[in-house]
Amino acid sequence: MKNRVFEEFLARFGSGARLYAAPGRVNLIGEHTDYNGGFVLPGAIDRCIWLAVRPAAGRRSRIWSVDFDEGIELNIADEPPRVSWARYIYGVVSEMARRGVDVPAFDAVFGGDIPSGAGLSSSAALESVFAFALNDLSERKLTPVELARAGQMTEHRYIGVRCGIMDQMISLLGERDRVMRLDCRSLEYEMIPFRPEGCRLVLIDSMVSHSLAGTEYNLRRSQCERGVAIIARHVPRVTLLRDVGLDMLDTYRSEMDEWVYRRCRYVIEENVRLLIGCDRLRSGDYAGFGEKMFESHRGLSQEYGVSCGELDFIQEIARGYDGVLGSRMMGGGFGGCVLNLVSDGACESFLDEVDRRYAARYGLHPRTIDVVIGGGARRLE
Ligand code: ADP
Ligand code: MG
Repeated sequence: MKNRVFEEFLARFGSGARLYAAPGRVNLIGEHTDYNGGFVLPGAIDRCIWLAVRPAAGRRSRIWSVDFDEGIELNIADEPPRVSWARYIYGVVSEMARRGVDVPAFDAVFGGDIPSGAGLSSSAALESVFAFALNDLSERKLTPVELARAGQMTEHRYIGVRCGIMDQMISLLGERDRVMRLDCRSLEYEMIPFRPEGCRLVLIDSMVSHSLAGTEYNLRRSQCERGVAIIARHVPRVTLLRDVGLDMLDTYRSEMDEWVYRRCRYVIEENVRLLIGCDRLRSGDYAGFGEKMFESHRGLSQEYGVSCGELDFIQEIARGYDGVLGSRMMGGGFGGCVLNLVSDGACESFLDEVDRRYAARYGLHPRTIDVVIGGGARRLE
């Protein structure tokens, strides 16, 4: 794809392009913790969007999408385009301009190999590759965190997705063989080694689309806010579940609806699991880390109520399978992928088993996606 992007640029616009890449991501543990001010643990993956770009005279940019096999002309003084992929680019340029960058017009060709809509955040990769490249081509530079904000606000303002900032942060700042422990409250982060020798990460896509996700997501958010509001009446410094420990939650349990209590407990426990998981990664204990993945899934399914039959079915096979170190649903829930940490020796037979049993039960074959933790946004030679 990298070469295709470069050659397409040559054919359409001639020489002089610079080449950039930005990756998609997985999140190893820490689900539904972001909007509660907690921690997440994403890693960039070796699947990217590649962009060939060269500054152009005037105000009009010409952009060609290899994957959609179509192009547009873009002027940021005009209204946002209607073509969905182009709105991301328009959004990024506008958000950078809002932050004081005089982004030049440009000619660009881009394409990628991140399956879109599978929960690997192809949209953040698209935002990040343009943000990173245009920042490189501009006089005034933004920091990576400012670029991540520009991407996040693109989703909010131009796409209508009220996402957190994790996906853009990891796409811009990811590193090979390391995952990012990101504090969603302060945006402080620490890179933690992730090199599970003899094991690999593999996603199994349930092929179920997240139709319930929007309304249920809002409901979970309001249940967390409800719990916080009850506790804050007694402990005014509490503004997010991040400020609450299990003891404090239990102290005010009697004032809460049982479901509010369980949702809150899940979030608090998930943060603890993540922090323990990071300690285990630091000491190279991947089996111990995998246990936390299993526990995370249990919490998401039983306590937080965001799994579904298909995800549970896959995860249960994984949990009982020799050689699977860890397994959990990934993303907002109600569909999407199960992320598995599997020893090389067991991988093939495990995937065969899931395929066979899933097809027998649901009549379709889950897609599997191998991922390797790779680098973040970068310029290529
Ligand atoms: P994801 O979970 O992969 O981020 P989204 O629905 O948020 O799914 O984003 C997918 C959208 O991002 C696509 O509909 C398209 O507009 C844009 N996109 C992603 N990858 C590409 C690509 N390679 N080329 C063009 N547009 C892309
Ligand atoms: Mg997205």
